Amino acid sequence: MAMDAGAAAQKALTKVEKLVAMSASPHLEEARTSAFLACRLIREHGLQVCAHRPSAASAPGVPTPGVPHRQPQADPNGFRRIRVRHPGHCRCCGNPIAPGEWALWCRGNGLRHPLCAN
Ligand SMILES: [Zn+2]
Repeated sequence: MAMDAGAAAQKALTKVEKLVAMSASPHLEEARTSAFLACRLIREHGLQVCAHRPSAASAPGVPTPGVPHRQPQADPNGFRRIRVRHPGHCRCCGNPIAPGEWALWCRGNGLRHPLCAN
């Protein structure tokens, strides 16, 4: 194990980028796990999350989702996954969200269906 800290951080950064990309998955569990793992790697390695990624191969015109800023338990958009306790309405589609359902909640933004937030 002769890997220096810089190389380890670089390797972690590459992995974080893949995880962040996977966190946009329509499969909720995969998306959630990816986001969690990415946050953990960022914390463990003290990585700097920066808007400018010189080597990013992202397609032009496709909005890049926000990258979490060392916020455990928060998804990239600041929405938290909660189990709804009171009936509400989705901000995106307007359909009701029943108590007991999982939804995404953001202070000031209200509730969303997890699938509507993508
Ligand atoms: Zn909805």
